[in-house]
Amino acid sequence: MIYDRSNIFARILRGEIPCKKVYEDPYALAFHDINPQAPTHILVIPKGPFTSFADFSSQATIEEIAGFVRAAGLVARQAGVEDSGYRLLANHGPDSHQEVPHFHIHIVGGKPLGKLLA
Ligand code: IMP
Repeated sequence: MIYDRSNIFARILRGEIPCKKVYEDPYALAFHDINPQAPTHILVIPKGPFTSFADFSSQATIEEIAGFVRAAGLVARQAGVEDSGYRLLANHGPDSHQEVPHFHIHIVGGKPLGKLLA
């Protein structure tokens, strides 16, 4: 899918609009969700121009994928939710209501989250 360089996370990556940053390295940027659904709700995004999980998983290099996954784990640890537990979530496409067309994962925790799948 063609990457839309004007999407809000692209603009955050370029420093055009602010974010509440919690972590950054060469592979990933993590920041607090503007509309948190739990006490901990952090978004982790790769630095490359990937629209969704489909594009990221097929087009990113192995180094980019590994760096991103490593960063997400570090962010969760740093957020203090590793022992209590957390949920990783990535929406892809219309059925999942992906709003922002730059691949991201949500790290959600800090309270009991309920069962997602029966
Ligand atoms: P999606 O539905 O998985 O695409 O989730 C997009 C998320 O981005 C939502 O949880 C929004 O609250 C969040 N969001 C949108 N704009 C911003 C922003 O400028 N800063 C931080 N989070 C944002």
